[in-house]
Amino acid sequence: MATIAPTPQTGTANPVQPPVATIAIAHGDGIGPEIMDATLRVLDAAGARLHCLPLELGEAVYLAGNSAGITAEGWDTITRADAILKAPITTPLGSGYKSLNVTLRKTLGLFANVRPSRAYTPFVPTLDVVIVRENEEDLYAGIEHRQTEEVYQCLKLVSRPGCERIVRHAFEFARANGRRKVTCLTKSNIMKLTDGLFQQVFAEIGRDYPEIEQDHMIIDIGAARLAARPQDFDVVVTSNLYGDIVSDIVAEVAGSVGLGASANIGLRSAMFEAIHGSAPDIAGRGIANPSGLLLAAVMMLVHLGQNGVAERIHNAWLRAIEDGIHPADIHRPGQSLELAGTERFADAVIERLGQLPVQLEPVRYAAAPAQPTTSATPLVQPTSVKATKTLDGIDVFVCARTSPDELAAQLQAAVGALVPLAMITNRGVKVWPAGHAETLCTDHWRCRFQPAAGKAFNPAMAVELLRRLAAAGIEFVKTEQLYRFDGVPGYSLGQGQ
Ligand code: NAD
Repeated sequence: MATIAPTPQTGTANPVQPPVATIAIAHGDGIGPEIMDATLRVLDAAGARLHCLPLELGEAVYLAGNSAGITAEGWDTITRADAILKAPITTPLGSGYKSLNVTLRKTLGLFANVRPSRAYTPFVPTLDVVIVRENEEDLYAGIEHRQTEEVYQCLKLVSRPGCERIVRHAFEFARANGRRKVTCLTKSNIMKLTDGLFQQVFAEIGRDYPEIEQDHMIIDIGAARLAARPQDFDVVVTSNLYGDIVSDIVAEVAGSVGLGASANIGLRSAMFEAIHGSAPDIAGRGIANPSGLLLAAVMMLVHLGQNGVAERIHNAWLRAIEDGIHPADIHRPGQSLELAGTERFADAVIERLGQLPVQLEPVRYAAAPAQPTTSATPLVQPTSVKATKTLDGIDVFVCARTSPDELAAQLQAAVGALVPLAMITNRGVKVWPAGHAETLCTDHWRCRFQPAAGKAFNPAMAVELLRRLAAAGIEFVKTEQLYRFDGVPGYSLGQGQ
């Protein structure tokens, strides 16, 4: 397999040349080795000044018994590198394996996932969208529990500092790259606290960027419009799961998920990869499109200050696309001129190094040193949040196979006059008091204990409450305190409450 020959670190004497950068190279699984091989050949031919360290991670490491998918040597390689170039990996199925992608992003603090997509004639002529995806929080916090026989839970964690730095990153990216508009996508109409915070922070930080048009859309219509009217969008900022989904949608609308590149940017580290996975359905056949990884390598070169090489590769790639040389995923009979396998496509790019596209607009990284991947986010301290916090009551989640009325009677008998039972919900919808017979009830009940307005509740009462439930043989599986912040409830109502 071709790799860039390790360049001696002493080879930086020419002051005109950017310094040699050390990069950790992970060949990945499935189509990973094929597209990495093709990408490295192009980087080599273009004169990228890279000292490559092999980085072993992924399926083989998992299956060797390492549930994290990366060894201590792997982490050591990463700490010695200026950046990581990573091919997709396969996460084995089953709960014994954690996603290495998520582990890498979170361990290295790679909070921003920047995913540009452009359509190239003859596909959709008016698509030029950059998705800025929050990379560390949301449902990808990876905190899941099975709480009862019937019910499983995944925690969606959203923090103010996390929202602030991704939203600021999106606006800084837009400003540095002359982008006109930033659109925020959330589901704040349903998740009023978590997604509501993201939307609120977007509005707050947006005030620092008055020259940039800004709007907010609910994710469902936003995703639909991204597919149908991508020309209405420019930069999109959104949370982790939505960003993962909409960036695949946009890449497919632009031609193929095989074109999608991404930069995972942190304050000290950066990792570059294609947006797609290891594509086991086409692995080993030599037909995968290497463009996503190659364009991620272009983003990496710009990040490393090797703008001239990045520009040569990107323009040669545009020229190959324009010349109708297309891998299978973007090959269209009547529009494409040549069906190219992975290696042939890489050769076509190499043959065009030094050429510019004629119909498509050439990229100009060398002339304009703006960072398309941007590590340019200023270090703004997160807002220091101070609020008066009071305790209103407690939600106790109970496992029981019963009816709402029977459960309410058991709970009230167990707890006595300590604190009133205010409500029971099942899967979030109120089933007591005054539930509906049609509501499907599982074995997982949220039982809200809350004193009447004006009456106090405190942690000692919570402990006594649990003691009484346990003494009555009632199985509680989790509790959530009901806090108020500056008088505003920090908890949601039950649906139907
Ligand atoms: P996938 O992206 O691998 O494949 C989806 C479809 O797109 C397949 O039909 C595939 O053939 C096609 N495709 C993807 N990349 C292509 C390319 N470069 N050229 C041509 N066609 C391409 O998604 P999946 O099948 O859901 O996942 C497969 C594996 O990849 C899973 O183990 C998953 O966990 C992993 N995955 C890894 C990453 C990563 O490493 N960053 C990201 C996503 C998925």
